[in-house]
Amino acid sequence: MKSFVSMEEAFGLIGAEIQERQTPVERVSLTLAVNRYVAEPVVAQLSIPPHTNSARDGFALSAEQVTRGQRGESVPVAMEIRAGDSPDQLPVDASTGCVRIMTGAPVPVWATHIVMVEDTETVDGGIRLLRVSPEGAWIRHAGSDIAAGDVILAAGRRVLPEHVQALASSGVTHVAVHQLPKVAVCSTGEELVQLDEGMPGPGQIYDSNRPFMAAMLSNFGCELVLNTHVGDTLDAMVHYIESAMAAQADLVVSSGAVSMGNYDFVKPALEAVGAELIFHKVTQKPGKPLLFAKLPNGALYFGLPGNPVSTVVNCRFYVHYALTGLQQRPPENPLKLRLAHDLEKQEGLALFLKAVVKRGKGGALVEALDGQESFETAPLLKMNGWIVLSEHVGSMSAGDLVSFFPASPRGLPDIF
Ligand code: AMP
Ligand code: MG
Repeated sequence: MKSFVSMEEAFGLIGAEIQERQTPVERVSLTLAVNRYVAEPVVAQLSIPPHTNSARDGFALSAEQVTRGQRGESVPVAMEIRAGDSPDQLPVDASTGCVRIMTGAPVPVWATHIVMVEDTETVDGGIRLLRVSPEGAWIRHAGSDIAAGDVILAAGRRVLPEHVQALASSGVTHVAVHQLPKVAVCSTGEELVQLDEGMPGPGQIYDSNRPFMAAMLSNFGCELVLNTHVGDTLDAMVHYIESAMAAQADLVVSSGAVSMGNYDFVKPALEAVGAELIFHKVTQKPGKPLLFAKLPNGALYFGLPGNPVSTVVNCRFYVHYALTGLQQRPPENPLKLRLAHDLEKQEGLALFLKAVVKRGKGGALVEALDGQESFETAPLLKMNGWIVLSEHVGSMSAGDLVSFFPASPRGLPDIF
């Protein structure tokens, strides 16, 4: 087991474990696919538009008919065509007149112009043109949006609600996505009172990590197969780990009991079940005592230190990294934003700072909030993301570029 690894090394060690695994793939309908990760490239079954059609209610005219109309002559109307009518119903040439056309209706192959209804007047036996739009205007050509056979969503993309428009219209009914990873969570600590147990007594505090982990992990898209509180005993921890393995969790998470206290039973419990400890302690603040292990059944274990902000950081970054990796998704990329102020920092320690992005004169500026201690939760209510600084950097000046990650990785489209 490694001790005191750097943040980069910790991600590397987790990534190496994740590489060998991926959550199984299932085909689901479009609405169920939303927020899931695409496992196989999605291919358009149809071109969009499937047939050349009109973008306006009006008349489809040949070039010659337009010329006649522009000379002030009336143009006869051969027929009316509506959205849903087949292109086979259209006149094969312009000899019988122009065609009254509705939005979405197929455009005759010989038509060069769509003249909007409001730019015409009806006369005996036809129409007169008051104004003519440029050639080709209001004609939506077959395949101009999406071509049948194109890969329209690559593997690894997260399906978003707006994608459903393009998928549905191009004939994609189901998407192969990764199954939601299965996760077990527990909080530890005899001082904790559950939210439904009434006010904490003397020396007690509410268990906030457990509802937080359940909320964040559900928001990431996981199936919580176990969600429990565990007392500070070796037996209770061993029982939790065994239950999580029995529930076939891909990731097993705990908060608390990974430091140096007399009741920090996570490590002894992992040893007792025969887990392989991979690293313990990351040179970072907050959340230094993070522990990462592999259980005998291959599930991965994250022991998050119990301070509330340590739990937030380690869950937001390391557990999330593992979850996206399990679904074959490339790691998140930070935004690079300018610091609003000077920032004092020691080398040798990575920092995760609660931060807000604000509008500056020259663009976005990012500001570290007051209250960076790992028990200070009020800034979580104000922040919109995290400044993340590697242990390799020292103090920084206002205007320097820093890495910024949104508070919720779902807060930005996955092109970031
Ligand atoms: P630990 O990592 O167990 O040593 O806990 C570190 C600090 O976090 C202590 O002040 C604990 O009381 C607190 N803590 C641990 N677990 C939780 C929890 N589930 N909810 C709120 N605070 C916690
Ligand atoms: Mg504890």
